[in-house]
Amino acid sequence: MAVVVVGAGIAGIACARELAGSGVPVRVLERARAVGGRMASRRLHGRPVDLGAAYFTARDPEFRAVVRGWQDAGLAREWTSELAVLGGDGGRAAGPVRYAAPGGLRSLVAALAEGLDVRLEHEVRRVGPGPVVDGERADAVVLAMPEPQSARLRGLPMPVPGWSPVIAVAAGWSRRRWPDLPAAFVNDHPVLTLVADDGARRGDGAPVLVAHTTAEVARAHDAHPEGAVSPSLDALRELLGIDAEPEWTYAHRWRYASPGRPREEPFHLGADGIGEAGDGWGSPRVETAWRSGTLLGRELAATLQ
Ligand SMILES: Cc1cc2nc3c(=O)[nH]c(=O)nc-3n(C[C@H](O)[C@H](O)[C@H](O)COP(=O)(O)OP(=O)(O)OC[C@H]3O[C@@H](n4cnc5c(N)ncnc54)[C@H](O)[C@@H]3O)c2cc1C
Repeated sequence: MAVVVVGAGIAGIACARELAGSGVPVRVLERARAVGGRMASRRLHGRPVDLGAAYFTARDPEFRAVVRGWQDAGLAREWTSELAVLGGDGGRAAGPVRYAAPGGLRSLVAALAEGLDVRLEHEVRRVGPGPVVDGERADAVVLAMPEPQSARLRGLPMPVPGWSPVIAVAAGWSRRRWPDLPAAFVNDHPVLTLVADDGARRGDGAPVLVAHTTAEVARAHDAHPEGAVSPSLDALRELLGIDAEPEWTYAHRWRYASPGRPREEPFHLGADGIGEAGDGWGSPRVETAWRSGTLLGRELAATLQ
């Protein structure tokens, strides 16, 4: 038997790494065709575009060491510590260093997953006491995903308040037609909350923007996410003065983008051997998800050894 980790986002992969590093046999099951979860980079028109997390921060000292490893390998780079603010009074917002990945954020999770037993395109349907994963016993099970998804797997009621959705709209032009951002928070806007310059983020200067919609717009276009493209382009025109139609667009829906009420504990581990980790266990960020998975892996390794 082994520990089964369900979900190959950064929380699940961090957890599996911690377990494998302690000599505990572990298998990761992921329903998608690739690892990364919401650190999602899709190849669009010849280059990766980040459609989930816009960037990440590294306040946690242990996570900073992981980030340094990515930097040394040329996978991650410091991007910016200042974002523009659009809407409201405008201006710039200073903050911590935001990191980006030349190959897309997914490449970072892929690097962490190297050497692990990860089974892709394997959707888990039921997890129950035992613990049992789709009828098979495991030493322990880790559900590393948004809580509405783990609740469904366990047959539990949906958490209240629920998670908020986002639609990410990517658009490419023939040339850059906007001022230096490199990314912008959009305040008090009915359609958008954030715009990121994907060419600046990636470092290749490609004329590609990614806009994140408000939860209201994402809910309104849940069944047909491409319906969010037109209002998002109108908003980009208004906010950035872009006066030309893009050459291409792409919309991706995140039904569970961020938790309504993050938990205060860093993870959950029940007496039934079922654990939960992810960015719902703290503030909803990449580094929180990494930390949550890592700490749960550490706890499980100590319990199982
Ligand atoms: C639009 C958007 C913008 C964001 N911006 C930022 C940002 O700027 N900075 C930042 O730090 N964070 C940001 N985040 C949050 C960040 O992406 C998350 O905190 C982090 O990626 C969560 O990782 P995770 O491993 O907890 O969950 P996920 O990445 O969601 O991983 C869960 C995995 O479980 C898999 N899965 C689910 N159900 C099953 C099943 N039944 N069987 C098998 N596999 C299953 C999924 O396919 C997925 O791969 C953003 C997120 C979104 C969506």
